[in-house]
Amino acid sequence: MLTFRAKQQGPKVVILGGVHGDEPCGVEAIGYMGTILPSLLLQGEVAFEIGNPQALLLRKRFIDCNLNRLFRGDSTLTPKERASYEYTRAKVLKPLLASCDVLLDLHSVHEPNAPSFVICEPNGYDLASYLPASIVVSGFDKLHPLATDAYVNLCGGIGICLECGTHDEPSTLQRAIQGIYGILAALHMIDEQITPRTQQHLKATYIYKTRHNFMPVQSFAEFTSVTKGTLLGTDGNAPVLAPFDGLLMFVYQCEKAEQEAFVLAKHVPLR
Ligand SMILES: [Zn+2]
Repeated sequence: MLTFRAKQQGPKVVILGGVHGDEPCGVEAIGYMGTILPSLLLQGEVAFEIGNPQALLLRKRFIDCNLNRLFRGDSTLTPKERASYEYTRAKVLKPLLASCDVLLDLHSVHEPNAPSFVICEPNGYDLASYLPASIVVSGFDKLHPLATDAYVNLCGGIGICLECGTHDEPSTLQRAIQGIYGILAALHMIDEQITPRTQQHLKATYIYKTRHNFMPVQSFAEFTSVTKGTLLGTDGNAPVLAPFDGLLMFVYQCEKAEQEAFVLAKHVPLR
């Protein structure tokens, strides 16, 4: 962990990269910002931390299980999760997340030409408007209650995840860096003028977990609009239909039961 403290007191911000080992943008952005932040920081404290160093070395999403589903009490976790490498990482990260005012967790996706978007609850909307994304999705605290951002919200901070785009595209790293600038500028921790943007707000309300497996009928770009009853894929031999009109997110082919196959979101009115 790399921590910078200004002489003047102020917010405590955690910037997290590499929670998933195949998503290098956050780690690279942290490497860059770590070299320039000491001369920029006016107030408060910024901690840069790497989520899953072993998985990053191997360029895998995780070693034993998804780190971003382990942030809660031990009783909510399975014996396999408690025996995992990722559990040891969650144990290190939890006190840091519990003590911060704001978390910015930087991620990317495998799908080509993916748009950037923010995941946060309404407590993060103001800060989100300083991030390089035109879409903000809430509702994940309910769908992914064991994720980093949900844990920070539970502990009284503001948890924000920035999906920066496609793994390894240069624009994805740029957005990760812009995201760090945006959060620190919004909190007046650096002297940088960033104009907040008007964003489209969605709410994710549904997650499909597999009974056996999931094979999508096609590849779906993030936020593909579907109507109720649209065939999305198959689970075993059964068709999987869209349960309501909405926008598809995080569609993954799955090989086992109880895996997260896709999320469905709806538009929410602007404030
Ligand atoms: Zn990720």
